[in-house]
Amino acid sequence: MSRLSVVLPACNEEPMVEKTCRTLRELLGQAGIRYELVLVDDGSSDGTWAAIEKVSREDKNVTGVHFSRNFGKEAAIVAGLAQACGDAVAVMDCDLQHPPEILLEMYRLWEQGYEVVEGIKKNRGKETLFHRKSAGFFYRIMSRATGFDMENASDFKLLDRKAVESVLAMPERSMFFRAASSWIGFKSISVPFEVQEREAGESKWSAGTLIRYAFRNIVAFTTLPLQFVTAGAVGCFGCSLLLLVYSLVRYFSGHAVEGYTTLLIVMLFIGSAVMMSLGIIGYYIARIYEEVKRRPRYIVSKIIRGGDTNEKVDP
Ligand code: UDP
Ligand code: MG
Repeated sequence: MSRLSVVLPACNEEPMVEKTCRTLRELLGQAGIRYELVLVDDGSSDGTWAAIEKVSREDKNVTGVHFSRNFGKEAAIVAGLAQACGDAVAVMDCDLQHPPEILLEMYRLWEQGYEVVEGIKKNRGKETLFHRKSAGFFYRIMSRATGFDMENASDFKLLDRKAVESVLAMPERSMFFRAASSWIGFKSISVPFEVQEREAGESKWSAGTLIRYAFRNIVAFTTLPLQFVTAGAVGCFGCSLLLLVYSLVRYFSGHAVEGYTTLLIVMLFIGSAVMMSLGIIGYYIARIYEEVKRRPRYIVSKIIRGGDTNEKVDP
């Protein structure tokens, strides 16, 4: 009989761990699905790990992975995928914002032969206008970069074992799970779901972290910004030709161009265009540098499986 693993990244989710596990246990138990829950404690500063240990001692189907510090949600997802042993592996948030009932629907689709089942957000939950607009802009770029419709994509997904192995085989250090799981291909289908309200705890994303996250992932998946540099250069060249013709005409018709202001504007414009381009290129170089260092994506300090704690450090 096949088994479903559910990967739950958790960072400061102490109030939610037990409730989420109980909900999933009841739901999957009633549906008669053999399951395993893999909770990844992403360097929480509250009692998340203690809560995970407690749940794992009560239920042998719960595995806990404890990071040595906070490595971010993407790393937590990868660690969870690496630990999961199920034939199908689902990833969902630990705060029950991804409705558990949809998990059953996803599992049934997997049984019908779909290898990647993607949760698509029907609404975006409570978000500010700025957040919505910037997310829209980010996903438009990501959609162009990956060639898949990333609008309303989420990390709520169910992957077949084959797909999990393919994601884990991707060698890059900075993983963007949402895009990677589309990029690998396979027979996929999407399932729309309503984002629920968060019950306890708080969202870990501030505007600053989101902007950083967006840049990182755009650069990890596409070289489109480098083409902006080329496009900018072509634009500047076009403008300079126009200005050249204009200045020459003025010169030969006896009126020299009013020098200082024009010169200043042109210099400032070109200066900032060059510096912006250098910034974009520099960012890529920084990311390449980080990739070539080949540091581990995360460091595990402890693993608890079926109630037994293992002090284990992953390579
Ligand atoms: N999360 C994580 N590491 C982090 C930030 C978040 O593992 O550094 C987890 C968090 O515990 C939750 C999920 O990622 O299970 C989604 O986070 P959150 O609910 O804060 O994001 P939102 O739902 O507001 O997008
Ligand atoms: Mg959430």
